[in-house]
Amino acid sequence: MDSTDGVADLHMHTVASDGTCSVAERSQQARERGLDAIAITDHDSVSTEIEDRRTVDNGLERIAGVEVRADVQDTKVELLGYFVAPDDERLADVLEEVREYRRGRNRKIIERLHETTSLDRSYEVVRGEADGILGRPHIANVLIEEGIVDSIGAAFDEHLANDGTAFVPMERVPAADVIDAIQGAGGVVSLAHPGRIRAENIDGIVDELVEAGLDAIEVQYPYDAAPTTGYADVSVEDAAALAEEHGLIQTGGSDCHGPDSGKFRIGEVRVSDAQLDELREHADRRRSL
Ligand code: AMP
Ligand code: FE
Ligand code: ZN
Repeated sequence: MDSTDGVADLHMHTVASDGTCSVAERSQQARERGLDAIAITDHDSVSTEIEDRRTVDNGLERIAGVEVRADVQDTKVELLGYFVAPDDERLADVLEEVREYRRGRNRKIIERLHETTSLDRSYEVVRGEADGILGRPHIANVLIEEGIVDSIGAAFDEHLANDGTAFVPMERVPAADVIDAIQGAGGVVSLAHPGRIRAENIDGIVDELVEAGLDAIEVQYPYDAAPTTGYADVSVEDAAALAEEHGLIQTGGSDCHGPDSGKFRIGEVRVSDAQLDELREHADRRRSL
């Protein structure tokens, strides 16, 4: 599909996590780029700017989403939830559990950076300066501000990526629990960017997730925008084949993080009207059960 075909971008971040702009700014950008619908998928949190599972704002459909880190077969995966009820208590509890793991990990990353670089800002200060869920991109910006590195890419390459000096793995909630919580909140669950998973056995991972109730898989994704070392070799076509094989709905999106993030690409990856309809209908069916 050409990047200007399609009507909806179903993967993006805001200041609720490691994106650089608000939901309102996202809506404006979406309109400028001619989109009919967007999903807001912040890490481990549903933005407090979102009031309902689906809102229509001046003709633009806004889907309440989330991107949650989870574990399957000792591997980190991310699960996207769509059309979730933002006030669902069980989902809120699971997200809080994931964020607790995140806080522990961030504190350790900062401690390691104190040992391996000239950084002297405390975890509390770094935490206090960030708007949303603290992630490695925020820490990368701190390293730039301190003159320790000169770009986000260098911050990851030298310190924050899996083989960086300050990398700390994050504990993870079992994927089955995340799937249950998203579905309990009326949401549809999609496996995010299968070509960004560090595992050999993607088929086995997808099998287990399908067994746990996975509804969809992210097929359209900008894999070309960043290097792919260490990741499973899953292309857009391979992901479409996995969808076909397992009867999964196909989702897709740009994973835009906003202006000045190095990933300002809202609308550059889109899904069709038919894909959006299928997702919406699946969510409606789940709610009517
Ligand atoms: P975290 O949630 O703290 O583990 O950070 C994950 C986020 O870091 C991802 O969503 C990406 O936006 C970003 N990220 C991961 N690896 C890199 C990299 N090599 N270069 C730039 N950004 C990255
Ligand atoms: Fe992701
Ligand atoms: Zn994302």
